[in-house]
Amino acid sequence: MRRLPPILLPALALPLIAWAPLPDFWITQLNYIGLYSLTCLGLVLLTGVGGLTSFGQAAFVGIGAYTTAWLTLNTGLSPWLTLFIGLALTGIAALVVGGITLRMSGHYLPLATIAWGLSLYYLMGNLDALGKYNGLLGLRSLSVGAFNIGQGRAFFLLTWVLLLAGVWALLNLLDSRPGRAIRALRNGSQMAEAMGISTLRYKVTIFVIAALFASLAGWLLAHFQRTVNPSAFGLKMGIEYLFMTVVGGVGHVWGAVVGAALVKLLDDYLQVALPALIGTSGSYEVIVFGVALVLVLKYLPDGLWSMVVRWLPRRPRAVDWQQANPLPARSRPAAGESVLEVDRIRKQFGGLVAVNDISFEIQAGQIVGLIGPNGAGKSTTFNLITGVLAKTAGTVRFRGEDISALPSRAISRKGMARTFQHVKMIPDMTVLENVALGTHTRGSNGVAGAMLRLNRAEERRLLQEAQRQLERIGMGDYLHELAGNLAMGPQRLMEIARALCSDPALLLLDEPAAGLRHKEKQALAQVLRQLQGEGMSILLVEHDMDLVMDVCDQLVVMEFGTLLTRGTPAEVQQNPAVRAAYLGTEH
Ligand code: ADP
Ligand code: MG
Repeated sequence: MRRLPPILLPALALPLIAWAPLPDFWITQLNYIGLYSLTCLGLVLLTGVGGLTSFGQAAFVGIGAYTTAWLTLNTGLSPWLTLFIGLALTGIAALVVGGITLRMSGHYLPLATIAWGLSLYYLMGNLDALGKYNGLLGLRSLSVGAFNIGQGRAFFLLTWVLLLAGVWALLNLLDSRPGRAIRALRNGSQMAEAMGISTLRYKVTIFVIAALFASLAGWLLAHFQRTVNPSAFGLKMGIEYLFMTVVGGVGHVWGAVVGAALVKLLDDYLQVALPALIGTSGSYEVIVFGVALVLVLKYLPDGLWSMVVRWLPRRPRAVDWQQANPLPARSRPAAGESVLEVDRIRKQFGGLVAVNDISFEIQAGQIVGLIGPNGAGKSTTFNLITGVLAKTAGTVRFRGEDISALPSRAISRKGMARTFQHVKMIPDMTVLENVALGTHTRGSNGVAGAMLRLNRAEERRLLQEAQRQLERIGMGDYLHELAGNLAMGPQRLMEIARALCSDPALLLLDEPAAGLRHKEKQALAQVLRQLQGEGMSILLVEHDMDLVMDVCDQLVVMEFGTLLTRGTPAEVQQNPAVRAAYLGTEH
């Protein structure tokens, strides 16, 4: 059975509302709610999904509003044209602001957006051409031919159709290759970059998209109110937009609408009720909102929509990729060809030499074990090879090419995939979606195509690959489970499937058997041997000596950052220095 798109129901409700015998007052309220929701929609993507907090969205609303106001008043251009000029200006502004601020980490970004919001507010308020703090008056209503659609019910339909289109586009985006990359941003950049994802690019992208939503809202607002002035675009509104989004459910697309509605209605009510209660006039609602924001963040951090989601049945996604064409495979190195040459790599953390001039080599089809006591420098060695950490010295060659200076993203694109000692995943994505992150470099569909759902053919191929790798590793039953619900063992297997999705020539596994049960370890050994049979080369860090001795062709033993010895498992087992190292620390 074909499933109906979830956007259908609200879409059908729109005309019913527009022609219902509602008082005009409520239509006006709905118009404002629709306008605010548009801006909040961008914030859901930016803050809720991407984890980037912005207090500056109102400023982007202002750019959209002022552009159309000034141009329609001074040049006579049609508002339908000035919309696109406004979007273009907003896009450029967001690119510049985002390009500078998104490199900042932690609390610098919200602070930078506050500065940005404030400066644009004062700019709008001080430019003669923009009417200073009085703003610009006497804008035209929007019309199509002689038909005025700028007010009342017609405007309601216009705004809410645009809003629903935005919701639809965002839902599409989040369920796509770029969408998964965006959802991975919040959990730090290391894993995403290791999957070949340029995190900065996606951060800038969602910053621009959020700004464009705000700009569209500004264009609508300007022609709806027929006047613009800076007060609607200042920091107070910026905070209010964020508040709406957080209350509604910052991670949920529909939360934008719920939050906007609630805050708008509450705002109106409090503006009347509070001064009456207190006896003097003033903007007391701001205080209530401040307190409410703290309470929501503390007791309902996922917002109101998360409570609705709990009541909705969770439907497993429809599997429509069974017939898709498999993705093309990378050329494999010939047996015996050198895949990895590590030459005297070194890492110092201050005075500590974590990796001390380590050298070794991996040939195609080999499984090489990197072993040593805790703290020996194995994970750091992984990070140096995969470009997660910068080397203090030394070179790494991958398939004959010097990759020493490349970032992890570029190395991953060349066909080197890894897992992490501490599993790095997106807990609120399904297992299938997490694993599909590994296919990122094998697809090319972008944000616009995803929003318009033009990406489905490629999506099917990517998801089919993800399912194939999960089944290969014995996790075919977990496709639609949330990754956060998995036990430790399956989480590690999921990471291996994710790494395999990039079709690597070299696989680096950091303690894949930790937390696995005996049966799972046997299955893992089986998978490793099978991969080896297919020509895969593997570098394995592992504490389970049975597994290591069982599957590895060569061992590299480290202690205190230094190479202790190299050789076959049998040779290493006989080595008195190795025995001493292990007896000294493991007992
Ligand atoms: P292993 O994986 O073999 O257990 P690691 O590579 O994780 O060892 O760590 C090697 C040494 O480097 C340890 O002493 C650890 O404390 C230190 N180390 C690892 N990462 C960092 C870091 N980012 N900053 C400072 N010291 C580190
Ligand atoms: Mg380690």
